[in-house]
Amino acid sequence: MEGALATELGIRRPETEDRQNDQPENLDSAGFRSPVERVAKLTGGTTEQGSKLEMPAPFEYIGFDADDTLWHNLTLFNRTEERFTRLLSRYHTREWISQRLMATEAHNLEVFGYGVKGFTLSMIETAIELTEGRVQGHEIQQIIEFSKEMLSEPVELLEHAEEAVTRLSRSHRLMLVTKGDLFDQETKLARSGLADFFDAVEIVTEKDADTYQRILQKHRIDPQRFLMVGNSLKSDVFPVLALGGQAVHVPYHSTWEHETVSQPPPNGSDYVELKHLGKLRRWLRNSGQSGFRAKIGMRRSDPLVSAVPNNGLPN
Ligand SMILES: [Mg+2]
Repeated sequence: MEGALATELGIRRPETEDRQNDQPENLDSAGFRSPVERVAKLTGGTTEQGSKLEMPAPFEYIGFDADDTLWHNLTLFNRTEERFTRLLSRYHTREWISQRLMATEAHNLEVFGYGVKGFTLSMIETAIELTEGRVQGHEIQQIIEFSKEMLSEPVELLEHAEEAVTRLSRSHRLMLVTKGDLFDQETKLARSGLADFFDAVEIVTEKDADTYQRILQKHRIDPQRFLMVGNSLKSDVFPVLALGGQAVHVPYHSTWEHETVSQPPPNGSDYVELKHLGKLRRWLRNSGQSGFRAKIGMRRSDPLVSAVPNNGLPN
């Protein structure tokens, strides 16, 4: 399809996935015959031959969610919850402890935000409430140890994540958009080995439409030229669709209770669902999205880490 589309547009492109080392002699690094064709392509205009270009505008940035999109996260919380319920099993049934922990977490998200530290405080609070204050000091100590282990666990990448990010970083500008504790997410990104492949990193307290709008404004990105990829309909897909952006949903094998949605996509808009990240590059190619970076001959800059607070105030 890519070849046929390129031919239809009068743009010759190498058919290999990695074009860098396989350029026909008269094409530039992005596969254009001339700077005029390159600019015309970017602006949706015409080439010097006068043929109308109809390829979709390139995505300026591809955003990636991190937890349960690039690396496993929910499984780590589930394992800790299991240890927590086992620890307190002499006080209550494990099902009841789980239910109470979930309720405490839901209440505390507004207070502590997302992440391991807030989860730890919720475990301690639940332990105190469930035992009516009888929980022992050594049991609290054990909960804190659970938390420390969570923060130092090796980051376990999802299958296809490393390949998708490293290869797409050659052709597209990539942005990591993740919510949670700043320190926790920064260290996870460092431990993941993927940090160098992102042009920008945004660690936020909530991923709603307002947050995405601030991020897009900050980076001067037209929403229509932003693609977000993630496992959560609530945090990665729907808010971006609401702004007029595009989104790819890559479901994780389970969904966190606080990330479930029951409503349809906003504005009747549509999104793409892929089974895993290994299918993302092919989908982009088949959509005519061969890469913004290549089109403007852009070089990748150093990653920029910043946090966008929900109150909209500058850091
Ligand atoms: Mg996620």
